Amino acid sequence: MIHHDVIIVGGGLSGLRAAIEAKRAGLDVAILSQVHPGRSHSGAAQGGINAALGNHPDGHDDTWEKHAFDTTKGGDYLGDQDAIMKMTQDAIRVIYEMDHWGCPFSRYEDGRITQRPFGGAGFPRCCYGADKTGHYLLHTLVEQSYKFGVKLYVEQYVSKLIVHDGVCQGVIAYDMIRGGFEAFTAHAVVIATGGSGRIYENSTNALINTGGGMAMAYQAGVPLKDMEFIQFHPTGLFTTKILMTEGARGEGGYLLNGLGERYMEKYAPKFMELAPRDIVARAGQTEINEGRGINGMPYVHLDLRHLGAEKILERLPGIRDLAIHFEGVDPIEEPIPVVPSQHYTMGGIDTNYDGATPMPGLWAAGECACVSVHGANRLGGNSLLETIVFGRRSGADVVRYMEGLSGKRPPNPRTADAALRAMEDKVDALHRAKGTEDAYKLRTEMALVTRDYFGVFRDEATMAAGLEKLLDVKARSKNVGLRVSTGAFNLDMIRTLDLESMIDVALCMAAGAVNRTESRGAHFRTDHNKRDDANWLKHTLAFYRPDEAGPRLDFKPVTLGTFEPQERVY
Ligand SMILES: Cc1cc2nc3c(=O)[nH]c(=O)nc-3n(C[C@H](O)[C@H](O)[C@H](O)COP(=O)(O)OP(=O)(O)OC[C@H]3O[C@@H](n4cnc5c(N)ncnc54)[C@H](O)[C@@H]3O)c2cc1C
Repeated sequence: MIHHDVIIVGGGLSGLRAAIEAKRAGLDVAILSQVHPGRSHSGAAQGGINAALGNHPDGHDDTWEKHAFDTTKGGDYLGDQDAIMKMTQDAIRVIYEMDHWGCPFSRYEDGRITQRPFGGAGFPRCCYGADKTGHYLLHTLVEQSYKFGVKLYVEQYVSKLIVHDGVCQGVIAYDMIRGGFEAFTAHAVVIATGGSGRIYENSTNALINTGGGMAMAYQAGVPLKDMEFIQFHPTGLFTTKILMTEGARGEGGYLLNGLGERYMEKYAPKFMELAPRDIVARAGQTEINEGRGINGMPYVHLDLRHLGAEKILERLPGIRDLAIHFEGVDPIEEPIPVVPSQHYTMGGIDTNYDGATPMPGLWAAGECACVSVHGANRLGGNSLLETIVFGRRSGADVVRYMEGLSGKRPPNPRTADAALRAMEDKVDALHRAKGTEDAYKLRTEMALVTRDYFGVFRDEATMAAGLEKLLDVKARSKNVGLRVSTGAFNLDMIRTLDLESMIDVALCMAAGAVNRTESRGAHFRTDHNKRDDANWLKHTLAFYRPDEAGPRLDFKPVTLGTFEPQERVY
C-alpha cells in the first residue's frame, strides 16, 4: 500500500495544473497516469486557448465579460453562469502565468501574444502557438511539475476508487510496467482523465480517451452530468477523422459543398464558417444528407488554398502535415475532404466551480468533469482554458480541504485492502470465465451504435432503438473472458476493463439523449427541433444503479443570473 496526501489521476493539462497547485502549497502530491503526461490528449490540441487579452487589432474592446457572454450563448444557456464568469475572468491571469512559465506562444512584432478569431466569439481572442498550442502548454506544465517536485507514477492504469463510509480515500491501480495491482491511499483524489470520445467510432480523440475516470466516479455513486451533449467537430478528415483545427477557419479557411458554394451563407450569414461548432456541424451534415457532398460522396471541403503557402506554412504547418500524411492532400494545392466527427464530451463528473464532487475527498477537473462552463455546446478554445483554470481551482480547493482535516486521520487500511482484493478477484474471475463474447467486437459494436444512432441529428425512434442495442451490448459484456490475467503490459486486461466503463458512459449519454425532448446546442432532435426553456433549462444527472443496466436520471437547476436566455442567432 502506498500513501500520498493527494493523488491525481491523469497527467494531462488539468491533472498537471491541479498537482502543481497542491504541491506548491506544501502537500505531498502524486500523479498516476496511464501514459507519460507528455503523451496525454491535451498535447494534440491545435487551435488555441481563449482569453480576452485584447491584443488583436480588432480585439481591443474585448473584455472577460464579453467572453462570458459568448460562452453562455455558445452553450445555449445551459452553462452555469457563475462558473463561466470565474473561468473567463481567470483566463487572462492563466495565460500570463503560462507565458511566464515559458510557453512559446506565437507573437506579434511587439512581443505580445497573438490571437486569432475562433467560432462563436465576438472578438479574436484565441491565443495560440502556431497549430501546436496543446503541445506547448502541456510541455510547459510537465516542466513545472518536475520543477515543483510532483511525484509521477507513469504507466499506472487506475481502475477503481477506494471509498470508506462515503469518503474517497484513494485508488486501485494496475502497474503496467511491473504487472499487478496496488492500493494507493490519499486524503484527496482528483480525477483528471480527459474525455470519453472513443465511445464513438468516428472520433477525433486519442485511443486512450475511453471515459474510465467518469465511469469510476459513476460506479462509486457520483452522478454524471449532461452526458447527452456530445460535440461533433465540423472538420475531421474524411478517412481517419483526425482533426483539422477550427484555427484553419479562424485563419480564413472556407467550407465548400459539391456545388462549390460557401454553404455557411445559408446557415449563419453573419458568422459564416466561424459560427459555433454545433451549427457548422449540422450545416455540413445537412449538405451531405441532401446530396451536396463532393461528387456525391459523404464529405465536404475545407479549402485553404486562397490563404497562400506562406500563411499555411507559418500558422498551420501541423494541419498541412496531417492532411498530407493521413488524407494524401496538400492543402496548399487542394481542398481537404472533411466530415463532422465526434470531438468533445460536454458532460462529465458533476462538480462545482472548485472541482469538488458531491463525494467528500473526490474532485474532478478537465474534460472528464462537468462544472458546467460549456453548457450544451463548447466554444473552440474554451476547453484548454477550462483544464488550466479548473485544474488550478481544484488543487486550491484540495489545499483548503486538507487544512480543515483535523489530525489528518489516515485512510482506512482495511477498506483499501478489501478494494484491492476485490479488484484482483474480479480479474481472476474474468480469467476463469471461458468468455463466449469477444470484448473487442463488443467495443466496436457499441461505438458503431453511438455513431449511427446518437449522431448530429437525433430522433426518438432511432435513439430508442440505439438504447436497446447498447443495453444488449451491456448484457452480453457480462460474458467476456480474459486470455491472460497476469503480467506486465496486459493490454488485453486493460481493454476488457475499459469496455465496462465505456458501455456505462455510453448508456448515460444515450439515456439522457432519449429523455431530453428538446433541441439545445449539440443535442439536436428532428422530432423536437426547438429549445424548450420552460421544461428543459436544467442539467441532467445520471446515477449508477448496481442492479440495473442503465442509469437513474434526475435533474438540477442551471445557475443563471447575468445573461437572460435569448434566441441563438449567428
Ligand atoms: C485533436 C484535438 C484537438 C483539440 N484542440 C483544442 C483546442 O485547440 N483548443 C481547446 O480549447 N481544446 C481543444 N481540444 C480539447 C482539449 O484538448 C481537451 O479537452 C483537453 O486537453 C483535455 O485535457 P484533460 O487534462 O482533461 O485530459 P487529457 O489531456 O486527455 O489527459 C488525460 C490523462 O488521464 C490519464 N488517464 C486516462 N485514463 C486513465 C486511467 N484509467 N488511469 C490512469 N490515468 C488515466 C491519461 O494518461 C492522461 O494523462 C482538442 C481535443 C482534441 C482531441
